[in-house]
Amino acid sequence: MVTRQDCITLDQQDALAACRDKFALPEGEIYLDGNSLGAMPRHLPARMQEVMVKEWGNGLIRSWNDASWIDLPKRVAGQVARLIGAGKDEVMVADSTSVNLYKALVAAVRLNPARKVILSERGNFPTDLYIAQGVAEIFNLEIRYVDSTPEAVLAALDDSVAVVMLTHVNYRTGQIYPMQEITSKAHAVGALALWDLAHSAGAVEVDLNAAKADMAVGCGYKYLNGGPGAPAFVFVAQRHHKDMRQPLSGWHGHVRPFEFVLGYEPAPGIESMQCGTPPLLSMLSLESALQIFEGVEMSTLREKSVALTELFIKLVDEKLSPYQFGLASPRDSAVRGSQVSLTHEQGYAIVQALIARGITGDFRMPNILRFGFTPLYVSFANVYDTVQAIAGIMESGEWNQDKFLTKKAVT
Ligand SMILES: *Cc1c(COP(=O)(O)O)cnc(C)c1O
Repeated sequence: MVTRQDCITLDQQDALAACRDKFALPEGEIYLDGNSLGAMPRHLPARMQEVMVKEWGNGLIRSWNDASWIDLPKRVAGQVARLIGAGKDEVMVADSTSVNLYKALVAAVRLNPARKVILSERGNFPTDLYIAQGVAEIFNLEIRYVDSTPEAVLAALDDSVAVVMLTHVNYRTGQIYPMQEITSKAHAVGALALWDLAHSAGAVEVDLNAAKADMAVGCGYKYLNGGPGAPAFVFVAQRHHKDMRQPLSGWHGHVRPFEFVLGYEPAPGIESMQCGTPPLLSMLSLESALQIFEGVEMSTLREKSVALTELFIKLVDEKLSPYQFGLASPRDSAVRGSQVSLTHEQGYAIVQALIARGITGDFRMPNILRFGFTPLYVSFANVYDTVQAIAGIMESGEWNQDKFLTKKAVT
């Protein structure tokens, strides 16, 4: 049996323990939803105050030059590139994940014009599939949905596929799809591979170039802690820069945006993946938040993340066996991201009861309780206390109250 003292000992040996202090989590809060919205870095309010008063308030429009706002997307892209195994000229920070997916997916199908199929899996995140549906409608393509396993994806890759579009770590189960193997099979049949790193960047090791990925997108407000609605990123491998054409031909992607000429001419590199004026305040917040990753090796993060999820599963096995929970995540840590999902018929109410006790996870339809373990600020004692709390909620029947059973707008 694992004791709470064992967990405290693990915390004392944790190489990342000091990172927790860099976040302004409320006293006593156990936050297991960093995979949906990252916690706030402690230094951000001061930085944002400075941005508002100095850069915007006093600097006004001059800050585009004086505070280098114009270079900001490239600067932040450089910070992200290191975390995902990309060159810094292959990444751009812009727009939302959904919009980047649209731009990248259209660019991908245009690079493969003879093919008519977008391949994805049924359990992919809805916005990814909705965006694909929109693209399919405009370009008269077909979407081939397969079951949510790497084997099903591999089996469905043939020479009709223009692009295979997958989320690297599935948002519901936390399963990691084998990026290298699927990309390599895609290339063997003449298809491109587009990866969504929303649940990967900042949480698991990603090496886009080692896998020879063609394109990727990812989120700024989950494990990267950029703040609510922070801009997202998009990656296109260097080899495609010359021929790629994204559909949102806005002025920030123009080769000479400040010459105000009549015709659109895309910038030659990854710059062309931009569209319009970026959300500067959010992007400055993301830039500042990413400083926390400086000096942190992704391998160290991954090691702690695996240790946290292993501990959680072990404790669930030990303490929750009487209560009909299922495990929706892989047991094998090699194919599991930084989250563990449990299933339970009363999942929604149990999550609400946990939130009332100061432990925040989330619920996904139809019966999934999702727990994200952000290695930067979740401790081993947090894991212990969470499982202990679930056991308490089940034993007392505390979940079974109207206030926990009624669904809120955002789950
Ligand atoms: C969170 C998430 C998104 C979010 O997209 P937005 O455009 O930021 O709303 C997209 N795809 C996946 C797989 C996600 O997990």
